[in-house]
Amino acid sequence: MIRDPEHETMPRPELEKLQLERLKVKVREVYDRVPFYRRAFKEKGVTPDDIQTLADLTKLPFTSKLDFRDNYPYGLMAVPLEQAVRIHSSSGTTGKPIIVPYTQGDVDTWAEVMARTLATAGTTKDDVLQNAYGYGLFTGGLGFHDGAERLGALVIPTSSGNTKRQILLLQDLGTTVITCTPSYALILHETARDMGIDLRDTRLRLGVLGAEPWSEQMREDIEERLGIMAINVYGLTEVIGPGVSVECPHKCGMHIAEDHFLVEAIDPETGEQLPYGEAGELVVTTLTKEAQPVIRFRTRDIISLNPEPCECGRTMVRMSRVTGRSDDMLIVRGVNVFPSQIESVLLDVEGVEPHYLIVVDRQHAFKSDELEIWVEVSEGVFSDEMQKMEGLEKRLRSEMDSVLGIAARIKLVEPRTIERTEGKAKRVIDRSEL
Ligand code: ADP
Ligand code: ZN
Repeated sequence: MIRDPEHETMPRPELEKLQLERLKVKVREVYDRVPFYRRAFKEKGVTPDDIQTLADLTKLPFTSKLDFRDNYPYGLMAVPLEQAVRIHSSSGTTGKPIIVPYTQGDVDTWAEVMARTLATAGTTKDDVLQNAYGYGLFTGGLGFHDGAERLGALVIPTSSGNTKRQILLLQDLGTTVITCTPSYALILHETARDMGIDLRDTRLRLGVLGAEPWSEQMREDIEERLGIMAINVYGLTEVIGPGVSVECPHKCGMHIAEDHFLVEAIDPETGEQLPYGEAGELVVTTLTKEAQPVIRFRTRDIISLNPEPCECGRTMVRMSRVTGRSDDMLIVRGVNVFPSQIESVLLDVEGVEPHYLIVVDRQHAFKSDELEIWVEVSEGVFSDEMQKMEGLEKRLRSEMDSVLGIAARIKLVEPRTIERTEGKAKRVIDRSEL
């Protein structure tokens, strides 16, 4: 269902007009109120008056995670702290966390964006939605919660974890929609199986899954195991949280909420804006955020943009699946590889489970001469039959070689030996962590 046809199906010239109006206001606001932006604008020799068309966006400076760290905690706010009503924060693997304050207006906008997101994915007010994204500082829990309530669905706020209880609730309460990370969807399936429950026999019909990279093969796997349609949803804390983009049931790219987020794809090396269709780093400018607007935020997520209207009738640009964060990219003997590419190769081979670990040697930053992949073998296949196992290993090695162009060492491990995580999966680890 199209929840907000006025915006979601707006002819592009009109949409661009709206974006430009909003952009001008935001640029003026941050320039007047946030010393960091004023300084950055000055360094680039640009003032708010220079923004006369959407193309002028490229005159503005980029922002990055680093700027959030440098201005921790409240240095990027565009309103007095008294006007903020909530804080979220991203995990931030190193150093200080990234803090994002919201005004009441931001919380309302986000709830509406999330209601629209869930509707786009195929959720209705009649659904029973079990929200297994983590509640707390992480944006997933409350983001989906507020959106689902606003849509009028019945929300079961389980948060992540306590998986057995989740399964019981899912069965007893007749959950129809699950929201969680793709890796947690697999944990749900595995736990249910242990309990003698087949999720395909429950009322569950839809998963709105995201917050981590996953491949098309992983989608097929999840859809098959859980008996659902699995929809991809994307977002990030710095920009708002989940709700930046989501697929419609056509599953052909994630519609960006462009009335709130102005997007570009850039060449991560040169910073040049790329034409539609070319793969590059997603850059987002918020058009409606109040407490902490961001200008040209470099997400580090590699995607491509598609402006073609979708069969669903929405005119909003679609972004491709995220192949990975530019900082997750591995360089193996000079070849660039994303963990998600490795995932696609693995899951195309019969006899392996969607649980794997990529072991690298990070001594030399992300460069590694050795690529080792641990992968779980399916219950039936793992055997003392050396021959069978050797055949599988050989098959995986040759697939990896032909698809990625690099040789990898494959280590087949027993089912359930790779550690499961309830939030975002950790797929790449350093040898020193073993
Ligand atoms: P953190 O940066 O600590 O992981 P966030 O929750 O803000 O915290 O994570 C946002 C990031 O998660 C995105 O920049 C992106 O890399 C990843 N992400 C979110 N949704 C998806 C998705 N559907 N596909 C791939 N990656 C995703
Ligand atoms: Zn669509």
